[in-house]
Amino acid sequence: MSLSEFQLARPRNLRDALAQLSDCRGDIRVLAGGTDLLPSMRQKLFEPEHVLDLRQIKELKCISETEQGIEIGALTTLHEIEHSPVLKKNYPVLTEAARTVASPLIRHMGTIGGNICLDTRCLWYNQSLTGRRACGFCIKKDGDLCHIAPGGSKCWAAFSADTPPALLCLNAEIEIASAAKTRRVLLRDFYTGEGDNYRRLSPGELLTKIILPRSTAGYRGTYHKLRVRGSIDYPLAGVALAVKRLNGHIDDIQIALTAVNPAPVLVAGLSALLKNGKFDDSAAEHAGELAARTAKPLTTSALTPEYRREMIRVFTKRALLAASRT
Ligand SMILES: Cc1cc2nc3c(=O)[nH]c(=O)nc-3n(C[C@H](O)[C@H](O)[C@H](O)COP(=O)(O)OP(=O)(O)OC[C@H]3O[C@@H](n4cnc5c(N)ncnc54)[C@H](O)[C@@H]3O)c2cc1C
Ligand code: SF4
Repeated sequence: MSLSEFQLARPRNLRDALAQLSDCRGDIRVLAGGTDLLPSMRQKLFEPEHVLDLRQIKELKCISETEQGIEIGALTTLHEIEHSPVLKKNYPVLTEAARTVASPLIRHMGTIGGNICLDTRCLWYNQSLTGRRACGFCIKKDGDLCHIAPGGSKCWAAFSADTPPALLCLNAEIEIASAAKTRRVLLRDFYTGEGDNYRRLSPGELLTKIILPRSTAGYRGTYHKLRVRGSIDYPLAGVALAVKRLNGHIDDIQIALTAVNPAPVLVAGLSALLKNGKFDDSAAEHAGELAARTAKPLTTSALTPEYRREMIRVFTKRALLAASRT
């Protein structure tokens, strides 16, 4: 599958990148590591006239401590995150989730910004042009019906990146910049829940930073991931958990899911299940049910929706019982 022709721009700093993005009159796509964008362009899911390659912009590659917590530049690779001592010490659920993305080679190229902005996935969509034409196009690209839920007008493509659920548990914020202004939003408010228009990012905007607050530094956590091939694969269901402990008891608990909805989502109502700062068997079972009800897996992905939902329940229960034991 060949790439269509496009004009490539390689700005050397953020100011030039934002100016080029705002001045561009045609269809433009941002390239960070390119590990998802380029395969998608080969499949003709995107055929931009312009590509803005961010890789020369050094100011977007950093992990730095600030008064507010830790800032991670959007171009920081997943390999750098996985091996960062300061992140391992303070935000271990993030390093653990980063370690499960794809393969070592892809983690050397793929960035955290690209992972947060990753396009949603569906068996009917992530196909070559020939495959999509043969199946009949769909709402997400070139068509007007959904093969997954044919009666409706919504796209249910699954958000399938590994680090966003960990970042949600850590209450991360992101910085979004355009030539005109810079804004900060909570990551949980960045996603729309619509598979075909999954993020709140205007055409002239770039994701520039991720901010991990001091308030969640020290939260211990785990990330459980269901995938077909252990060595390299997108998640088919993922559960991130982060807990704050105080005097040996769980004082705060956050769980977030990925790959089972069109956006990564936090599970609500968990703290109410805590009994003396722990989850016993029945509370963990109940929490598993809450997580399974939050998940809305459909036939967008390999493995059945029933199995993926069940694994969300099992992963949640296991993670909670393990967190209660330590
Ligand atoms: C074989 C294979 C297996 C994979 N397995 C996994 C997996 O297990 N888990 C997983 O999470 N991912 C997986 N991926 C997807 C991908 O490699 C990662 O999600 C990676 O983190 C994407 O980052 P990138 O820098 O390469 O993004 P790119 O491909 O450069 O960009 C991805 C998207 O984000 C946009 N974008 C990138 N940076 C910015 C920015 N700063 N501001 C605004 N928009 C931006 C791009 O325009 C594009 O739409 C896999 C990919 C392949 C090819
Ligand atoms: S969920 Fe429906 S509209 Fe969305 S990509 Fe899949 S088939 Fe297309």
